[in-house]
Amino acid sequence: MSEKARGILIVFSGFSGSGKGTIVRELISRYRSYYSLSVSATTRLPRATEKDGREYFFKTREEFEKMIEKKELIEYALYVDNYYGTPKAYVEEQLDAGKDVILEIEMQGAGKVKEMFPDALLMFVAPPDAQTLKERLLGRGTEELQVVEARLSRAYEEAFLVEAYDYLLINDTVDRCVEEFHSIVRNEHRKVLRNQEFITRIKEELKDFSKGE
Ligand code: 5GP
Repeated sequence: MSEKARGILIVFSGFSGSGKGTIVRELISRYRSYYSLSVSATTRLPRATEKDGREYFFKTREEFEKMIEKKELIEYALYVDNYYGTPKAYVEEQLDAGKDVILEIEMQGAGKVKEMFPDALLMFVAPPDAQTLKERLLGRGTEELQVVEARLSRAYEEAFLVEAYDYLLINDTVDRCVEEFHSIVRNEHRKVLRNQEFITRIKEELKDFSKGE
């Protein structure tokens, strides 16, 4: 094929503490040429290890509201008292370049993306059980106990929305999860519905050949 097909928009969600950040980092380090990761904007304060422009674009509330006003975001949501949103320009540019773009976002945002991009692929990652989730959140040590509790309550609410997703990954080992993620996306590319352009083209080519019969 001469032109590169447009990439797939992938929404990747999971309960806070499910390990989705680790999975995405590992996926991109193994398969860098396939994926682009969208960097979100947020009003949350940076954690000690985070850098502006790498994990997030850290914004004040006023700055964030300006981005909403100027329609610079594909979607945004309030999550445990902070705004989070996906800047539009980078996503469009990377999809056009044929990259599969990963949005690591929570579930309200996922629903909005699906409405705007019905072709988006929705993947959800869960820990093997709830106890593991709690231990991971406590073990991370970056949040106050109160915040951990708020995130666990949010996870309970989110558990009712998993059916809106296309695929469920269980994060027992990062290695297996990463390989499953990648193979699901490779399979998605082969779906007939995602290859309409090819089918149209080959029909045209065959039509020319069949004239000479
Ligand atoms: P955290 O504070 O742990 O980095 O992120 C909290 C939640 O916000 C996570 O579920 C994360 O996936 C989600 N999130 C991050 N960026 C975005 C975004 O751009 N839009 C939405 N809707 N959620 C986001």
